[in-house]
Order: sequence, then structure tokens, then C-alpha cells
Amino acid sequence: MRDLQVILDDIHQQLQPFLGEGKVANYIPQLGDVSPKKFGIAIRASDGKMFSTGDAQEAFSIQSISKLFTLTLALQAHGDRLWHRVGRESSGNPFNSLVQLEKEDGVPRNPFINAGALIVTDALYQTDKNAKDVVLDLVRRLGRSSTAAFDVEVAQSERTHGYRNLAMANFMKSFGTIHSDVDPIVDAYFHHCSIAMSCEELATACSFLAAEGLDTEGNRVLSASQTKKVNALMLTCGTYDAAGEFAYRVGLPCKSGVGGGIVASMPGEFSLCVWAPGLDSNGNSLLGLKALELLTTETGISIF
Ligand code: GLU
Repeated sequence: MRDLQVILDDIHQQLQPFLGEGKVANYIPQLGDVSPKKFGIAIRASDGKMFSTGDAQEAFSIQSISKLFTLTLALQAHGDRLWHRVGRESSGNPFNSLVQLEKEDGVPRNPFINAGALIVTDALYQTDKNAKDVVLDLVRRLGRSSTAAFDVEVAQSERTHGYRNLAMANFMKSFGTIHSDVDPIVDAYFHHCSIAMSCEELATACSFLAAEGLDTEGNRVLSASQTKKVNALMLTCGTYDAAGEFAYRVGLPCKSGVGGGIVASMPGEFSLCVWAPGLDSNGNSLLGLKALELLTTETGISIF
């Protein structure tokens, strides 16, 4: 296999003509301010080497990638009991849909759609009233970052315009599947989504997914079995309504966010993050998907 750095530089070069393609999310107004031409990718190999190119050191809004870390903390706290409250199936509906909740008694299909993440945040809040900060603390520790932070303007922008998430939380409260008050739960959720950090930091933060649950310092984050299961959920539910397309074209467990970031893991080999803010019609980073497809095609590495 060619050197990973050479491959990343080559991918960056191949994507130059397409920079700016896709639609930057603006349903949270503050997210719409980012330049559509940004592109960064970082790979952290299991031996600790970092390979990166483009805007890989620039912080961006991680949005739904935060759902991975909220889930990790809730699994630490509740283990398999968490699955009494949230399912593990693809939803086949948009990430912010309310439709299934009506028919399925307020139990979300999986932890990576918004409804599921709100339930997971509620579970976290039950064990730790500081549910907002514990997620930031975790990503800082795992990502070895002293600068990852809430972007309070993004959080406020979502708070002001997040009618759907507020509706969803209240709807689930009406079924009794959200146990706490709705307000602190949505507040924590909006803050988790607003965390700003870079591709290099996120690739580092996700390394436990490629290391049977151990972080970069050898501390246990999840058991090997839980880690396998989180990777499985990323593969089946991590990329909105395009999990099949990602499995087909990329072949790695991935989690994406509407900020244009996608994290992925190749167990035993590496974890990575790619960022390009323009989204496709499913809400995944258009060039992020292209970059990952090129990477697994050029390296021949995938879980399949
Ligand atoms: N904060 C965003 C929302 O709830 C996250 C969406 C996403 O990245 O999928 O709408």
C-alpha cells in the first residue's frame, strides 16, 4: 500500500475541482456562515501516527457526531439497560422525523437519530445532572484537545430555531419516554451538537473505536464487545438515510453530522475524520463521502 500521507494528498488534489459542491446546512442559521470550500481529512493510525491534509486542524461544528460520544457515556453508565429505551434499527426516515414516534409509543429507532440522541441525553442526565459538560470533557480527553469547546452562538442559534427538536422532546415526554424535564435535556443536546473541534482531534477522539475500546493512552472507554456494537450501529444507522450507500461505497462504520464532518473507524487499523461543509440530499458531506470512497478504494482497506 502507498504511504497514507501520499494517498491523502492525492485525494485532496483529486477533489480540488469539486470544492464548494453541496449545500451548507442553514436550518440552524449560524451553521450557514462557514465557507463551503473547506476540506480537511485526518487519519490516526493505530500506532499513533497522524496523517492529515487540507483544513484538518480547523475547528468545525461536530453536530450529530456528538451522538457517538453521548452514546458512549450512556453505555458506560447504563450498559445494556439503555436498549430498553432506544432501538438499534435503521429508521428509514429523516434524522429529525417525528412520524415513527407516534406509531412506536415514543421509543426512537436508534441512538443516532435526533429522537434517539435526546433519549440517550436524558439517560445521561439521570446519572449526571452535568450531562452537558461531561460530553465536552470526554471529547477533550479522548481527542487530547485543550481547545474543543461549545460554540455558544451555534447552540443559541439552534435553541432559537430548533422547533422540531423541541417538538420531538415534548412529544416523547408525552409518552413518558423522556423522564426528566424537557428543558435541560434539549439544552444539553444543543450544546453537544455545537462542540467545535478539528478533524485531527476527532480522528484521535475516535481511536477507541479502532482499538477494541481503549483510548490513545490505553485507558478503557468501552468494553471490546460494546465497541464492536457501537461500530455496528455506525455502519447501519450512522449516516442518516444513506447507510446502505456508505456500506457499498465506503465499507467503514461512519457517523456524520450536518456540520459536514464524518468520522469513521477501521478496527485494528485507524480512525479518521473528514470535513467538507457542503451536504448531499441525505445530509451527509458530499465531498466527505467522495473522499472516503477514494480512500478505501485506493488503499483496498474496508471491513468487508
Ligand atoms: N443539531 C442538529 C439537529 O438536531 C444535528 C443534526 C445532525 O447533525 O444530524 O438538527
